[in-house]
Amino acid sequence: MLPTGTADQCFLDVVGDVHGCLDELLQLMAALGYRVERLAGNYAVVPPPGRKLAFVGDLVNRGPATAQVLRMAMSMAAAGQAFCVAGNHDEKLLRALTGQDAESAPDLAQSVVQLDGEPDGFRAQAVEFLRGLPAFLLFDGGRLAIAHAGIKDPAGILEWTQGSLSAEARAFALHGEAAGELDETAAPRRPRWAADYRGKALVVYGHTPLAEPLWLNNTAAIDTGCVYGGRLTALRYPERATVSVPAKAVYSRSRRPFQVNALLAAQTEKA
Ligand code: MN
Repeated sequence: MLPTGTADQCFLDVVGDVHGCLDELLQLMAALGYRVERLAGNYAVVPPPGRKLAFVGDLVNRGPATAQVLRMAMSMAAAGQAFCVAGNHDEKLLRALTGQDAESAPDLAQSVVQLDGEPDGFRAQAVEFLRGLPAFLLFDGGRLAIAHAGIKDPAGILEWTQGSLSAEARAFALHGEAAGELDETAAPRRPRWAADYRGKALVVYGHTPLAEPLWLNNTAAIDTGCVYGGRLTALRYPERATVSVPAKAVYSRSRRPFQVNALLAAQTEKA
């Protein structure tokens, strides 16, 4: 699938993994200057002049309000106020909703129940939205790239805009490094691609929950683990400033403790 971001849109607020945390998303949007009203079951948003949102993916699963977060992203995307790339969880939910995957995982089953609790037609609209999410987006004439788990090959970015992504490149953008590419402990996971990154485009990504946003070379990791009781973070572009709001609760238990960024950076330097 081709990226659909417009090249000239360069005043963006890039939002990390939301995972169904609607309250925190609303709070973060308020902190960024977005006015939100609920009208007839939908969201009507007034962004600050000239700005738009861009989600790094993983809108869904694990959190308390997957359907409402989808509704927000879908309303804003339809109004031309937001962009979104696909995360591994968005893909997983799409597979469950279209019967390609078992709904057995508890967070997945909970999301499907939440969607089925919405008025008629919403589930079909959500499927259409999830199916249309690109693996990555480029903005500002290629100076900003957004992908859920990152982009390994910066030189490939411009090539990819000439054609569809290979299955391998799409898998990397959604899932990141395969287990075989991790070190022997696999914890903390190192964003090896970011350590090796030498591209000119700033790459903003999420996927791996961190205690703080992490800048490494020309990349910014902004998943600060909201659904695990951390924070929801946005990166303002071109300002390169981050804004975070704390989680109101621990909605899901992380399988491993958040990476300590100093340790992560030290390990990546050694790598
Ligand atoms: Mn995630």
